[in-house]
Amino acid sequence: MTMRMKWYGFVALALLAVGVASAQDDATWTVKPEWVRAHEEFLASDAMGGRGSATRLEEIAANYVASEFMGYGLKMAPGMTGYLQSAEIDVAMNTNGRQRLTIVDAPTKTSRKTFNAVGYLEGSDPASGTILLTAHLDHLGTKEQAGDQIFNGANDDAAGTTAVLELAHALASGPKLKRSVLFVCYGSEEVGGLGSTYFGAHPPVPLASIVANLEFEMIGNQDPKMPKGVLLFTGWERSNLGPTLKEHGAQLGPDPYPEQHFFQRSDNYMLALKGVVAHTAAGWGTPPTYHQANDDLEHLDLAFMTAAIQSMVEPMRWLASSDFKPEWNKGGQPKGR
Ligand SMILES: [Zn+2]
Repeated sequence: MTMRMKWYGFVALALLAVGVASAQDDATWTVKPEWVRAHEEFLASDAMGGRGSATRLEEIAANYVASEFMGYGLKMAPGMTGYLQSAEIDVAMNTNGRQRLTIVDAPTKTSRKTFNAVGYLEGSDPASGTILLTAHLDHLGTKEQAGDQIFNGANDDAAGTTAVLELAHALASGPKLKRSVLFVCYGSEEVGGLGSTYFGAHPPVPLASIVANLEFEMIGNQDPKMPKGVLLFTGWERSNLGPTLKEHGAQLGPDPYPEQHFFQRSDNYMLALKGVVAHTAAGWGTPPTYHQANDDLEHLDLAFMTAAIQSMVEPMRWLASSDFKPEWNKGGQPKGR
């Protein structure tokens, strides 16, 4: 009898220990470098031809992202019947022979589709708001020139797309969060933020319920002006989002290139114009490979990238579990259109 009680007691203690250990496993997550490499090897491959804005290859990239979202267990966003949102983009030629792309309501003879991949992780208290994590999946496609003609965009912005994918993977695999999280990879950023403009006009949740948007851009290289392992955060002084995330462990710091106006140069701006507290986290502002054909896998610092994504996992879990509602500082919100 005594022996048996001891035995049961031991099993109960062992089960308790296993329970504690698995709870700890849930709270930590390791972003594996091979996952980061796998996304890059697909998105930045020559076969993907540089993922030109509003092209068939952009559509394939969007399908890849959507399929990964499904694999991680993300759901379709409210009101959506799939993981893709598409917009009609008219492609006109300017008098100087350059393409001019604009969103149109209905297909035209010269229009093409652009695609946003959208995944949704529902929180336990959806009324507490939604966090929006974004990147852009398009790049410059190909250009006729001597030598390499494929602009792979491994850093711009397959790297940010990889960050959104692996944050979706991490957050969907962990404990249930209070707030919902929308993961969106936009098409047609490179031709004027058209995917994000369309998303801002047709959001699956009301824009007023989006408490913060963080875009990931070009996190494939360490910026020589930033402390080691720290991402630059555009428009740092415009709101209390960056400083508060930093207080909660995010490796973020002020953008050292205010003259470059990076805050206005990515998808976050389209949402910021509509009032959402929206910023971009980036690695090196404009590395030597910026908008060059050699922005390819070989020129990525995959270890830096993996560490950068890892560093955002816990801060994003905190943001999605807290009551903190970021606010614009006085004069920080850009004027809406
Ligand atoms: Zn970009």
